[in-house]
Amino acid sequence: MSEFDSRDRWVMGGLVVLGLATVMAAVLSGGSAINYALEVEASNAAHAWGAKIDKRLRTEVDGLVASPSETALDIIDPAGLRQHLEPDGIKSDRAPTVAVNQSHRNFAERLRWLSGGLLSADPGRSGDDAVSNMDGFAVLSPSGKTLALGGTLKQTSLSHALETNALKSAFAEAIDTKEVTVAALPEQDRKSIAFVPVTEDGEVAYLYAFEVDQSSAAALTNLALVVVTVTTSLLIVMGFSVPAAIASRRIRERWQAEDKIRYLAMHDSLTGLPNRLQFRQHLEQAIARAKRHNTKIAVLGLDLDRFKNVNDTLGHATGDALLEEVAARLVETIRESDVVGRMGGDEFAVVAENINLPEDAMTLAQRICDALGAPYKVNGHEVTTSTSVGIALGPVANQPVDILMKNADLALYRAKQDGRNAFRFFEPAMDAALQRRRRLEHDLRNAIRKNQLYLDYQPQFGLNEGELTGYEALVRWWHPSEGDIPPSTFVPIAEETGLIVPLGEWILKTACTYALGWPDDTRLAVNLSAAQFKTQDVFELVRRVLVETGLGPERLELEITEGTILQNTEAVIETLTKLDALGVSIAMDDFGTGYSSLSYLTRFPVKKIKIDRSFIGTLGTNPQTSAIVSSIVGLGQSLDVTITAEGVETEGQAAMLKHWGCDQVQGYYYGRPEAEVPEDPLEELPLDRNVA
Ligand code: C2E
Ligand code: MG
Ligand code: MG
Repeated sequence: MSEFDSRDRWVMGGLVVLGLATVMAAVLSGGSAINYALEVEASNAAHAWGAKIDKRLRTEVDGLVASPSETALDIIDPAGLRQHLEPDGIKSDRAPTVAVNQSHRNFAERLRWLSGGLLSADPGRSGDDAVSNMDGFAVLSPSGKTLALGGTLKQTSLSHALETNALKSAFAEAIDTKEVTVAALPEQDRKSIAFVPVTEDGEVAYLYAFEVDQSSAAALTNLALVVVTVTTSLLIVMGFSVPAAIASRRIRERWQAEDKIRYLAMHDSLTGLPNRLQFRQHLEQAIARAKRHNTKIAVLGLDLDRFKNVNDTLGHATGDALLEEVAARLVETIRESDVVGRMGGDEFAVVAENINLPEDAMTLAQRICDALGAPYKVNGHEVTTSTSVGIALGPVANQPVDILMKNADLALYRAKQDGRNAFRFFEPAMDAALQRRRRLEHDLRNAIRKNQLYLDYQPQFGLNEGELTGYEALVRWWHPSEGDIPPSTFVPIAEETGLIVPLGEWILKTACTYALGWPDDTRLAVNLSAAQFKTQDVFELVRRVLVETGLGPERLELEITEGTILQNTEAVIETLTKLDALGVSIAMDDFGTGYSSLSYLTRFPVKKIKIDRSFIGTLGTNPQTSAIVSSIVGLGQSLDVTITAEGVETEGQAAMLKHWGCDQVQGYYYGRPEAEVPEDPLEELPLDRNVA
């Protein structure tokens, strides 16, 4: 915001300077204007006095008597004047002949208009209105001889003054132009002589010389100038500054808005950290610097582990407060030259410059993990979280900025996969794996649409009687170019992308339809993914498919894993209880690989436990697995739950299981998953593998 203040100050400062400059210009030009105005005033006054005196002289030349009110005529010595004008005398029919300089007249007009008549410099007015005062009076012949004198004007001082160049040339000019001229009296402030030529038959017959005192006129003119200057300044202020101030205010508001927009566009509103856009710019600059100085940089992608849990359990306000605290800790943890940005959600990124060795980046990542791993106190809650970090080192020649960020993301993804609360460096293999995953995701979408998937069925047998109890449906994908892709690869992709919903429904429907052709006592086991429970109403799905296909519920067995139970216990309990009530049985798949407690066996309607094949594979070679498997079999017996052993591949394994009293078996030793179910599966078994 300080940026805006300084810009604003510049605008206001500029306006003030402009205003001052205008007033200065007015004052400066006003000085010479005053002088000119006074000259005009003197010339106008002299013109009026001359005209008046001349008229009197012509009309009353014989009985000229001074009137006390008429100062100008008071000071004339009528006798002397008449005497000097003899013997020609003055003819009364002559027209007035004094003239005023035209440019003086124009200027006077304008000045009068400007000053609102304050200085009524009107050539037509009477001499009595003159602002200038007449101190003395003389009548001169064109040769400069004094014909008459009056007032304070003395012959000696007049002769002396007429010696000066200024008066000499003014006198000559008056005769030459036959117009009034004015010249300043030397060494006398605001005093001048005005020459008024009087013509007869086109020739100057004589001149009046008036000694003009302009001290009061000067005061008035100054006042007029002040008024003009102030008025002009006011006009400038009103006409320029006010609109300029309004414009400045508008500009300022726009700048403010632009500043705000720019800030919002570049920053994360919650934490105030640079957002993705600005972070990218920082990264570009860091890459450019690193290339110039031949140094290395590290980009760290950060993601809080299980942040969603905080939001879900403590609310979004606490989640936000935690993110703010995380941002603050990050800023404290990194060096001043490093930049941290919020990429969105619980994702942050750091760009660190001058990384000499990968160990430097590792140290920083560890520091970040430690700082963010310490407990938080937010909104009265004690919260602990951990962070996964992906590190990408650069710059690599000709590698775009986005690649570096993408690589950090890939490494972060790996850190997450490897159990979180860890950091991982980017490796090119990760990139290849991700590319493949993307391709598979795209192809899987098509495969579901184009029916490129199919089901295999693997038989399950009762270990005691040797009878076929049922088949487990296992989904298969024959990829047009890559061949067989195992479900362990594509089922997780389907889970992450949501494709598991249409896929799961297709599997259930297809398997149930197929099982209709089997003997009535042959059951069908179908695997359900944890993601299905998250995204859809599994009970509704199963009920609908059973109705649509007509398969009896007691023939369907749903295999779930401990992951399903862990995710949302209450909702899952409800679904499973309803399914149990419907007659569908639930089997716990891959038993022993999850992290859940055994307590769920009492809370869920579990009818069957399938011991994971990783235990069966090491039976006989690892004494511990023997102990585990025999214990699980014992547990099943005491809980009255059917125990199935998965992945039985050898006779030895089968014998041990039978010995411990395991109920059912499934594995390559008894039958591989096949697309077609044989007419009589028992007959297909080699005699020595016969279970019974
Ligand atoms: P699972 O449900 O435990 O399936 C049993 C897996 O063990 C199958 O692998 C099967 O081919 C394999 N298997 C059976 N007998 C033996 C044996 O003797 N030795 C060995 N080494 N393996 C044996 P598959 O088909 O690759 O399936 C892997 C996992 O993929 C399944 O484990 C299940 O979790 C998932 N899956 C398979 N089909 C589906 C499905 O239709 N829906 C869902 N949601 N998941 C499925
Ligand atoms: Mg299974
Ligand atoms: Mg299994």
